[in-house]
Amino acid sequence: MEKLAEGKTKIVYASNSPTEVILSFKDDITALDGEKHDILAGKGKMNAEITALLFTKLNEAAVPTHFIEMSDQVTMRVRKLTMIPIEVVLRNIAAGHFLVRLPYFKRGEKLRIPIVEFFLKDDAHHDPLLTEDHVLLMEHANEEEIAYIKRITHHVNETLSPFFAKRGLTLVDFKIEFGRDTEGNLRVGDELNADSMRLWDTQTGTIFDKDVYREGTDLNQVSKVYQDVHNRILAEVAA
Ligand code: C5P
Repeated sequence: MEKLAEGKTKIVYASNSPTEVILSFKDDITALDGEKHDILAGKGKMNAEITALLFTKLNEAAVPTHFIEMSDQVTMRVRKLTMIPIEVVLRNIAAGHFLVRLPYFKRGEKLRIPIVEFFLKDDAHHDPLLTEDHVLLMEHANEEEIAYIKRITHHVNETLSPFFAKRGLTLVDFKIEFGRDTEGNLRVGDELNADSMRLWDTQTGTIFDKDVYREGTDLNQVSKVYQDVHNRILAEVAA
């Protein structure tokens, strides 16, 4: 297969179809803009499975995503997108870098309204925060597209928050990325799993996401958290 691109945690391959590519999940785990890097056996499979399940839920909820189907344990068929180099973050609860920028909030405080933030994908400059005018100025999206991206991001939150709530998990915040398919339609691309969300146990506040890796050193502990969150997300629960 012809490799089209390789990122920190995934590889994109060409497919036989001009409108599709193949996305393969690696076992790599990284943090701090790539400065911290390890291999976690089985992570690619777990993150691919979580992404496939969550994108299936989103497709069913009329959120357009790039996901088509899994083709093997770590590989999925997805629609080919031209990605917008912006990370779209939605926050329900104050955590992470939000508190560094706005120390007027307390960690764990529920935000009065869920908020959407934009960050430029640029590790060398630590993914700077962008206002909507910055996005317009840099011509990454027009006004209509920005409004659409925000609407879809809220819809993702409204779809996934109850899904996690049924599994005893609180969706604190998450990051998604958008791209344009071969017909020019905006779709959610990339991935959605414990690397790109904060998930806290609703009862105990225990962390079930990549923060255990960002903040910790014990890879066995990180591995256990990834397995636990995978099992909880994939578990069948009553509707
Ligand atoms: O670090 P920060 O608080 O801005 O992260 C907000 C959310 O976006 C978290 O769920 C984090 O996992 C995710 N994120 C990500 N990729 C990045 C930065 C943040 O998936 N490069």
